[in-house]
Amino acid sequence: MINRADFISDDDWHKFLAFSDNLETPCVVINPGEVKKNFLRLKKFFPYSDIYYAVKANPEKAVVSLLAEAGSNFDIASRPELDLVLSLGITADRVSYGNTIKKARDIAYFYEKGVRLFSTDSKEDLKHLAQFAPGSKIYVRILVENSTTADWPLSRKFGCHPDMAYDLLIMARDLGLVPYGISFHVGSQQRDIGQWDDAIAKTKYLFVSLEEDEDIRLSMINMGGGFPAPYIQPTNDLSEYAAEIKRYLNDDFGEDLPRIILEPGRSLVGNSGILVSEVVLISRKNNTALNRWVYLDTGKFNGLIETLEESIKYPIVTARNTCCAKEAEVILAGPTCDSQDILYEGYKYSLPVDLKAGERLYFLTAGAYTASYASVSFNGFEPIKTYIME
Ligand SMILES: *Cc1c(COP(=O)(O)O)cnc(C)c1O
Repeated sequence: MINRADFISDDDWHKFLAFSDNLETPCVVINPGEVKKNFLRLKKFFPYSDIYYAVKANPEKAVVSLLAEAGSNFDIASRPELDLVLSLGITADRVSYGNTIKKARDIAYFYEKGVRLFSTDSKEDLKHLAQFAPGSKIYVRILVENSTTADWPLSRKFGCHPDMAYDLLIMARDLGLVPYGISFHVGSQQRDIGQWDDAIAKTKYLFVSLEEDEDIRLSMINMGGGFPAPYIQPTNDLSEYAAEIKRYLNDDFGEDLPRIILEPGRSLVGNSGILVSEVVLISRKNNTALNRWVYLDTGKFNGLIETLEESIKYPIVTARNTCCAKEAEVILAGPTCDSQDILYEGYKYSLPVDLKAGERLYFLTAGAYTASYASVSFNGFEPIKTYIME
């Protein structure tokens, strides 16, 4: 049984219920206070780092503005994201273009707006950077294997082998760019802290070999995101991440660290949001079937894409007093006419035996990668709306 109180205090829960009671479902309700708290906590545990919030996790203006005020910088992946942060008065020197997959004309656009910090992982892209963002600081993203220990891996598609990173940084210098540093992302919701150890060791090797062989002194490590939000699968506390990662850094780089950048998304906004959905229908597939199918008005195409392969397991609760409800296992599915739109079938959630159509289910820790992923109106179901709690 999921204990709601493990995830949100009684006080905050009742405030949330009062705020959301009259809102139409499905929607995501964000408590900005939590985002601020998460940011300050990360700052406290990583005082030596600069934080670049990964805007894709939750691009709500209120969220971005609040983080800007708190001192965050921004990891941006597209022109619309850049336009968003600039429109909020955030200056281009606080932006990193972190997407390694970009069009030459998008590079030119970022450069024209004043961005001078770019990631890359290929020759082709580097040539475009030399041409359209001359003199900029370049960091190269290296490949890290994280597909088994991260709940939402970011491997394979991004980064290059360290040997290639080496070549790219030399090429960057030769093309008149500034060879600035190394980045990696150990995978989102990374539950194995040791993954940072491997990545930092590879980074160290590049720092040393580039300096010894080429007289290139790198000055920055971008350690990406991957820090956890509280879902059902247990994780270490952020303080453990901080202590271990600091130890890895000191082992490899001593006390005199290069500039360290973090790019958190999920860990800053995940637990600030609750996704509110309504039970559309409850049915059984035959008269003696043990499991009920519970169909919701939210599914893979309007907010819950991270249920793909049941990767992210949200704490799901009703508004009932959980101590007293008799529960049984269910299969959870979304509202569209697409049989991929099943949320959880292998992992069995338990819900009250007398659950009724029209009742609401609350997905806790739904502030990251929900609304921002729900950008089409598949089958006529609108992208999910976000509300900011006052
Ligand atoms: C998505 C992304 C992040 C954020 O990762 P989280 O695991 O959500 O913290 C950081 N950096 C890059 C380059 C990303 O693509």
